[in-house]
Amino acid sequence: MFSTTEKSISSFLQGMDGELSPNEPMGKHTRWNLGGKAQYYFPPNNKTEVVQLMCQLPSNVPVFWLGAGRSVMVRDGGLRGVAVSTQGGLDRIKRLSKHNLYVQSGVASASLAQYCRQQELAGLEFLKATPGSIGAAIAMSHLQVKKWKNIKRLECVNRDGDLIWCGLNQLKDVLHLDAVASQENTQQAWIVGIEFRMSKRGDDKRASAQTIPDRGSAVIDGLIRKVRSQFASVPVTHTGLYKQSVEIDPTNLLREAGLAGHRIGAAGFDNENPNELNVGRTCRVADVEQLVDYGRETVHQKLGIDLHSQLTFVGQR
Ligand SMILES: Cc1cc2nc3c(=O)[nH]c(=O)nc-3n(C[C@H](O)[C@H](O)[C@H](O)COP(=O)(O)OP(=O)(O)OC[C@H]3O[C@@H](n4cnc5c(N)ncnc54)[C@H](O)[C@@H]3O)c2cc1C
Repeated sequence: MFSTTEKSISSFLQGMDGELSPNEPMGKHTRWNLGGKAQYYFPPNNKTEVVQLMCQLPSNVPVFWLGAGRSVMVRDGGLRGVAVSTQGGLDRIKRLSKHNLYVQSGVASASLAQYCRQQELAGLEFLKATPGSIGAAIAMSHLQVKKWKNIKRLECVNRDGDLIWCGLNQLKDVLHLDAVASQENTQQAWIVGIEFRMSKRGDDKRASAQTIPDRGSAVIDGLIRKVRSQFASVPVTHTGLYKQSVEIDPTNLLREAGLAGHRIGAAGFDNENPNELNVGRTCRVADVEQLVDYGRETVHQKLGIDLHSQLTFVGQR
């Protein structure tokens, strides 16, 4: 199925740190346990392994990153190239100073909120019920700059293995984020870590405007402490099929459009809460993709409102 890149990937495999699993069923790493296989799956143990992968992987091999996989579905025909997972390996939080935190992109957003609460740091409370990883949350909502006003800078890795620091307003260009929006797998850089400037609870807010000297990423890596299992079980909300906002409530719109309980193949809108997906035993990702398209078109036709999918579909049909 993937013969064009098979040879180049297997020749690259020799001498690589970390474990590349071939033919990995991606349902294991995404929310509904659905979907095709990734040609290779790579869960790096640390940032060095990510950089090594990007440096050594032949440039014709596509790369796709995922965090907790809560809003990704790999189509039934599978994903060419390497799926890199930030969960588990890029999960470090480092307190750089009184006001500054370095957080790797695979840290769960809700865990970060809990960490900040315990450390009496203010500014990321809004993440406390956010599903998924902080890297994906920022990649997907970076244009809502107000929400992310605490971000000092972002550390990204590109397809050549270069580490690049950028500001939030440069992120779209650095990551080629139009690719995410258009659901094409052509993104060429990814978020490895984020530096936040926080307020200390009870402090005069003006005090948090002070800066710390810039540091090289190697120094930060050397200082980093893992905060893994301590924050593993934070409750989060479910990922709905369509994005919710102050103006748009997908649950009510789907209900008004008569779509509660509607099914395509083995995928359906939930009867009680139509923005939730129900999947039967024989469900394919194609069923879900058609359902999402059908829901969007029907709501648009009947109510004149545009719903936006929360799910990113990648790979071959
Ligand atoms: C404040 C807030 C509240 C939210 N509340 C809700 C809610 O109530 N319900 C809900 O359904 N959703 C909510 N969301 C959206 C939700 O956070 C995203 O769906 C979430 O980011 C998915 O995380 P994940 O790790 O599972 O991402 P994945 O599903 O693994 O990936 C999602 C996308 O991000 C890309 N990506 C992943 N990691 C990186 C990286 N390191 N660098 C660049 N790109 C990357 C992937 O390629 C993919 O395109 C909220 C978001 C925010 C910011």
